[in-house]
Amino acid sequence: MEFKTDALLLRTVNWGEYDKIVTLLTPQGKIGAAMKGVRRAGAKLNFAAQPFCFAEYVLTERSGRRTVIEASLHDGFYGLHSDLIRLYAAASVTEVCDAFALEEMPCGPLLVAAVEALEAIGTADGPPVSAVLVFLLKALAFAGYPVSAGKCPHCGKEIAGKRYFDMENGAFGCAACAVGVPASEVTYDAIRFYLSGGAESAPQGVPSFDGIVRALRLLRVYVRRQTDCDLRAGEEFLAIL
Ligand SMILES: [Zn+2]
Repeated sequence: MEFKTDALLLRTVNWGEYDKIVTLLTPQGKIGAAMKGVRRAGAKLNFAAQPFCFAEYVLTERSGRRTVIEASLHDGFYGLHSDLIRLYAAASVTEVCDAFALEEMPCGPLLVAAVEALEAIGTADGPPVSAVLVFLLKALAFAGYPVSAGKCPHCGKEIAGKRYFDMENGAFGCAACAVGVPASEVTYDAIRFYLSGGAESAPQGVPSFDGIVRALRLLRVYVRRQTDCDLRAGEEFLAIL
């Protein structure tokens, strides 16, 4: 059987002398496939076995084994390779996809969010922290761990002053209820800003760099608590900023 699918390459491992096994995120789920001879000099499909390749892949499937036989590039996101910060930012996106996606689990929204994030990371002015935060919030919602930053879920009041973040349900709450861990106002503002679509006309204004970085740190802890995934590229990204 032969089939065609759009896919983002998440990771590869070398196999045999000249082959690779690739992990692809497709709208139908995460799949593994062999790419034969792709490590030979001048291999035609070499581009399709590179990190962050977004392409239409043509695969064959025989007795449950898939092989990539053709690919046509949508985007290689070459801007990602211009510096180490962008590379780690991009790797933090693909590692989240790898952690959250499963085989035979429809992943269309995750794929779209990841491709948009890689595009934004490759073209951002300065460290692409907001692109990573936007992606992480979408990915968490996709995976069933949505983050909320509205009124306090415990007492229903508007949150002012000190905030708390509840690692159990991903919600910010007020200081009087004090459920979860303390979170700074800038962290809350950054998450609220991007959850509401990131319009620059938002009343609280564009969040600070510090607020976005703090939000990323908080969400890393939340991801580990909820999924047991240790996001190493995400940690490296925050460490080299
Ligand atoms: Zn409350």
